[in-house]
Amino acid sequence: MKCIACGGGTMTSAREDRPFVDLPDVTLVGVWVHRCSACGEYEVEIPRPAALGRTIALALVEKAGPFEAAEFRFLRKRLDLSAEELARYLAVDKATVSRWENGRSPAPVAVDRVVRGLVRDLEPVPVGVRAAVPRLAGLSVSGPMNLRVRNEEGGWAVAA
Ligand SMILES: [Zn+2]
Repeated sequence: MKCIACGGGTMTSAREDRPFVDLPDVTLVGVWVHRCSACGEYEVEIPRPAALGRTIALALVEKAGPFEAAEFRFLRKRLDLSAEELARYLAVDKATVSRWENGRSPAPVAVDRVVRGLVRDLEPVPVGVRAAVPRLAGLSVSGPMNLRVRNEEGGWAVAA
C-alpha cells in the first residue's frame, strides 16, 4: 500500500499502544498502526469506534473521583448534546459549561452526578446508582482516569 501523504513510501503495519485522541490518559492497547517508511505519516486503525466510546463512557461513570475537563466534555459529546443543550438542561449559562470543559473551574459534584445518571440512561448497565453511592461518596481521587482498553472478540474491554 502506497502512502497517501507523500506517494513515495510504503506503509508498514504494527500493533502499538496508542493514546485515545479525546482522552490522552486512556490507552488503546495493541491497535494496528500503519506507518509510512518514507515520511513517517501514520494512521491508527480503530475498530468499532462506537463500542470503544461506550466502554470508555461506562468506565468513566464508575470513576472514583470528579471528572477532568476533557472527561466531562467527552461524556457530554457521548450524550450527543451540544454545550448549549446541556446548559439548557442543567439550567445554567452556556459559559458555565464552557468553564467546566476548558478546566477553568470544575463542574460541581451535583452536576458530575447528573451527568453520570444521563450516561447510565444512555448505556444501561445492570447496576443501580445506589450501588455506586458508597464508592462515589468521597470523590477523593483526582486527576485523569488512567485506563487501558483492548479490542477483543467480544468488543472493547478494559485491560489489566
Ligand atoms: Zn509517506
